Amino acid sequence: MEIPVYDSSSEYAIGVDVGGTKINVGIIGRNGEVVYSNSLPTLAGEIAVDIRITTAISQLLQWAQDNMPLLKVRGIGIGTAGQVEWESGVIRHASDLLPGYTGTPIKSLIQNKFGMPVQVDNDVNVLALAEKYAGAGRDAESLICLALGTGIGGVLVDKGKIVHGQWGGAGEIGHMSVDYRGLPCICGSRGCLEAYASGTSIAARMNEKLKAAGAGDGDEPIDTRETVRRWQSGDAAAAAVMDEAFEALGAAIASLLHVFNPQVLVIGGGLADIGEPLLRRIEEETRKRAMPSFLSGVKIVPSSSGNHGGMIGAAMQLWAYE
Ligand SMILES: [Zn+2]
Repeated sequence: MEIPVYDSSSEYAIGVDVGGTKINVGIIGRNGEVVYSNSLPTLAGEIAVDIRITTAISQLLQWAQDNMPLLKVRGIGIGTAGQVEWESGVIRHASDLLPGYTGTPIKSLIQNKFGMPVQVDNDVNVLALAEKYAGAGRDAESLICLALGTGIGGVLVDKGKIVHGQWGGAGEIGHMSVDYRGLPCICGSRGCLEAYASGTSIAARMNEKLKAAGAGDGDEPIDTRETVRRWQSGDAAAAAVMDEAFEALGAAIASLLHVFNPQVLVIGGGLADIGEPLLRRIEEETRKRAMPSFLSGVKIVPSSSGNHGGMIGAAMQLWAYE
């Protein structure tokens, strides 16, 4: 069944957020409002990911036809797990969480199927567009988003558009070295930011410290959340680990300010749930290291995108690249 809903001047777009376990799909307005959304399990390994994406979009369009028959959309924006060749919209590499997905020409497949413009990018990249068009970076033309989770993701936005680099891989801030003789990293470098300030590294370094201080092999290792809790209640070992993470972040962000000269830094990811105390320490350590002219006017703010951020940002591609 062909549903003729495309209109290039529409104030609505379809946003699709493809993750390892679920696909979120929605009708999104120009300012990031979610008109309707739905979620399907990805069923990775059982059904090809592109078929599940097609099903999710078809179901959404069917819903629209039944409930909003006059609705038109300007296109489909997809934010997906994995590395994306941005211009061609081909999945360059996907982890084992999405078997068979590597090499899928997702942009052309969806474009041919639904007969409207399609934009595809990495799921972390599109989160930055949610911030730029509907969130904490709304008034900024140049911003940097840092996602502090189990790993560290980063995105650079300049003049309202994501900086993609050669094939779409730009913004790997987690693998920016803050200590060229530092800890070896899986990427081949040394002293990467991720080795000090990712959730995984914070927990690992805390457990090393506890072990060095005499914790037995039988003791349960503690996680990032517990490390943060101990830091906030004044524990010296946890404070040492967290201080090192903040210093690494300060060094990385100061370098980013010098290289990129942004207006806003948006801090998101699981660690950002700490809130004010985290932002304050990051700002302190950045101030120690950045030139005043690069600090002036820069705002460090928490991410404002909630659960729907990936889907909203995916849809915002239709305005970012019009
Ligand atoms: Zn690295």
